[in-house]
Amino acid sequence: MKTATGTTLISNGQLFDGTGAPPVPDAALVIEDGKIKYAGPAAGAPAVPPDARRIDARGGTILPGLIEAHYHATYFNVEKLEDLDIKFPVEYVTLQAAVNCKLALECGYTAARSGGCLFNCDVWLKTAIENDLIPGPRLAASGREICSAGGLMDWNPEFRKIGMDGLVFCINGVEDARKAVRSLVKDGVEWVKTYPTGDAAWPDQNDHHTLCMTFEEMHAVVATAHNHKLKVTGHCRATEGIKNALRAGYDTVEHATFIDDEGLELLLKRNTPVVPGLRFEQVSVERGPEFHLSQKVIDGHQETLEGGAESCRKILKAGGRLGMGGDYGFGWNPHGEYAKELTFFVNYVGLDPLTVLKCATKTGAEILGRGDELGTLEKGKLADVLVVAGDPVKNIALLEDRANILAVLQGGVLKAGKLATRTEVPLPARVR
Ligand SMILES: [Zn+2]
Repeated sequence: MKTATGTTLISNGQLFDGTGAPPVPDAALVIEDGKIKYAGPAAGAPAVPPDARRIDARGGTILPGLIEAHYHATYFNVEKLEDLDIKFPVEYVTLQAAVNCKLALECGYTAARSGGCLFNCDVWLKTAIENDLIPGPRLAASGREICSAGGLMDWNPEFRKIGMDGLVFCINGVEDARKAVRSLVKDGVEWVKTYPTGDAAWPDQNDHHTLCMTFEEMHAVVATAHNHKLKVTGHCRATEGIKNALRAGYDTVEHATFIDDEGLELLLKRNTPVVPGLRFEQVSVERGPEFHLSQKVIDGHQETLEGGAESCRKILKAGGRLGMGGDYGFGWNPHGEYAKELTFFVNYVGLDPLTVLKCATKTGAEILGRGDELGTLEKGKLADVLVVAGDPVKNIALLEDRANILAVLQGGVLKAGKLATRTEVPLPARVR
């Protein structure tokens, strides 16, 4: 991804730097050659050359670009399990995923960690974004997901004689686990997504208290992945599944819904981040009837919502880390609503907005493994910056409305927002 050359000054706004510190009023951000040179009070800012680009924050807020920590570029309009895999060919999925990536950037998300994808789309989306062929968040790519046979993601009964070839490796035992990871290694993914537990979506055989992989399978995934420098995460709702993931050496835990004290201790000892993706549960309860979800499924989502909220409060209070990502791409939870996750964590879970913003920026970058170059507005970091009208610390919900997005920068290049003009977006390499 190309970075800007020359100097850019963003001023006339308050600055939230992503560390969780209170915003600095009347601040300035100076960017030089795509990196942050200064972030702080305007009065202390270094002089900029006369030809510096200037961005007027219009009395709003300058903050780090948001980071989606559980992003599914290739999921869209999923209403039934079969919508996840067998409905569309890879050609259409790829086009739709590119549209979703553009949308995420326009919503202020300058980076994203994938939570799993169809086919091997993520790796090539990432390549296209890095080569400035398409706009999108800096992507940490996952690939096809791993679940044991008969588990949450293996729902096609045998008589259909179809597997889950687009989305999931359905494994039996440790040899299959290693084989699946080795295949992902060759595909070039960075993250391996697994399904240690079930979910409210499948109440009869694979509900949120059911284990869908053995510890041995999970451990084989981690050992193989880590050997090849890949990271591992997993969909963990059930108490034992969370502890299995932590003991197996998972790099992050998705959801961690029903974590107990022993699980929390393991989590803190390993400093493993959690991505709750919890608003999905609330919206599944609220909009479930409209999408013909059964009462049993809705009840399961309600239990997940309440258990998950309690776990999030416990994890943060104990000093753990949460990333903000929301499983967007379902019919009742569509792409483009990413920032509703942040509002939910303030309004429903009861966290303060500064904490939630830190989770959505600094912690997100740490989950990507890029905490030293992204996630906060500090000297030397890449200038991935969001400028919004108003004060999200007072009203976090303003981030949901794209009308409030004034500027979205990646590496100092203005890519989206009201103040962006088409000419500032770099032309793709082929056109040059
Ligand atoms: Zn997911």
